[in-house]
Amino acid sequence: MAEDIVAEITEISPGIGTGVREADGIEPFADALERRGLSLVRGEIATLQVNTGYLCNLRCRHCHLEAGPGRAEIMSRETMTAVVAFARRFPLREIDITGGAPELVPDLPFLIEGLAPLAPRLMLRTNLSALSGAARESLLALCVAHRVVLVASFPSTNPSQADAQRGAGTTEAAIAVLKRLNAAGYGVEGTGLELDLVSNPVGAFLPVSQESAERKFRHDLLRKWGVAFNHLHTFANVPLGRFRSWLLRTGNYERYMKTLTDGFNPSAVERLMCRTLFSVSWDGFLFDCDFNLAVGRPHGGRKVHVSEVHDLPPHGAPIAVGDYCYACTAGSGFT
Ligand code: SF4
Repeated sequence: MAEDIVAEITEISPGIGTGVREADGIEPFADALERRGLSLVRGEIATLQVNTGYLCNLRCRHCHLEAGPGRAEIMSRETMTAVVAFARRFPLREIDITGGAPELVPDLPFLIEGLAPLAPRLMLRTNLSALSGAARESLLALCVAHRVVLVASFPSTNPSQADAQRGAGTTEAAIAVLKRLNAAGYGVEGTGLELDLVSNPVGAFLPVSQESAERKFRHDLLRKWGVAFNHLHTFANVPLGRFRSWLLRTGNYERYMKTLTDGFNPSAVERLMCRTLFSVSWDGFLFDCDFNLAVGRPHGGRKVHVSEVHDLPPHGAPIAVGDYCYACTAGSGFT
């Protein structure tokens, strides 16, 4: 069963909620911005990212949240109700449901139904294998009915590389789900059902350019498996959580941080997602992004529950930053 697939990768440290780490010998990110005359502050909020929790069927090597089968933190229906009420109070262009594996959260359909009318674009992140099997057919039908955009992790078209990151057998399970999604109309021209892929490098290096990666993925997926998709996004791995532990364990941490700082792209700062996004944790608290969530560093320096928020921060409000932000500004950036 795909849901039983678990990467055989050991964890070194829990890493979540332990505060901000600045790497030794690395210029603090805030100083790097200031030295270049740049600032990173809030603009107009357009996207609400909802993290439904850390429970996942996989235990991927690059996971900044250290999600996995043993995690008990998942969003309750009560918190979902508060999140939906929060989303209703503000004009949003996009809502992005993520995890862990949101498919494993029992009340996910309740959340989708509540959020779907509140923004023109509702996205659901999936590792694909969590979407497999007869038990997920009703969820797929719900996604089709609400035109939910599916954003699927698919690190590589080389199964052995992808399985090294996500666990043995995960590529085979992912391909089976991609075929099912294509059959349901996802990723197929003219249906309006969008299927996007996300690829993270399978080692301590930066992603290749998005355009060339997308060309290669489109060609390989079609040729090897007859699978189609709409867009591919490539993102650098963020040196937090299990990926940070892996970097440290394999002696790659300092080299990777240097790669990120050397790759600093000033023009990416203007387009960083945290300017226009809010991230809500599984228990309903606000963060500037999912990476600040991973280190337990709340928006505005104090934990505020969505049920208490009636005004959005003004333009120019500060954003919490740490050395992990270098992953967002390397190369073409995390925008
Ligand atoms: S980690 Fe990225 S998204 Fe988060 S605050 Fe830093 S630059 Fe912004």
